Amino acid sequence: MAEEPQADCLFCKIVVGDVPATIVHETDTTLAFRDINPQAPTHVLVIPKEHHPDAAALAAAAPQLAADVLRAAGEVAEQENIAPPGGATVGYRIVFNTGAGAGQTVWHAHAHVLGGRGLNWPPG
Ligand code: C5P
Repeated sequence: MAEEPQADCLFCKIVVGDVPATIVHETDTTLAFRDINPQAPTHVLVIPKEHHPDAAALAAAAPQLAADVLRAAGEVAEQENIAPPGGATVGYRIVFNTGAGAGQTVWHAHAHVLGGRGLNWPPG
């Protein structure tokens, strides 16, 4: 369910500018910034400005906003030149780690946009 900004949420603090981030894309409803611990040459996080704890909660409470995040992720990939077409080495992955067991560490929904190198399947 949609929530007010959370005082203890790192990504809510980035949205209001209290924590610095390298912002690469912004819309009325979304913000995208470079991950501070990149796992690929391009590693950008796309978040809804509104606080939702994870991707499933976001999609359930605000499906249009979830779509906004996905559209912004695609625009980031275009901007970063990792979107097809562009040959066999071009492509990107959108990842929503959901739950601690899947590696989620920040409880504000975020899409990882990863690319710029070969991406193996299955992921680790
Ligand atoms: O999926 P997960 O919740 O683990 O992703 C959180 C991501 O937020 C991590 O990849 C971490 O490097 C990133 N991060 C960041 N800026 C911060 C704190 C965390 O980009 N200030």
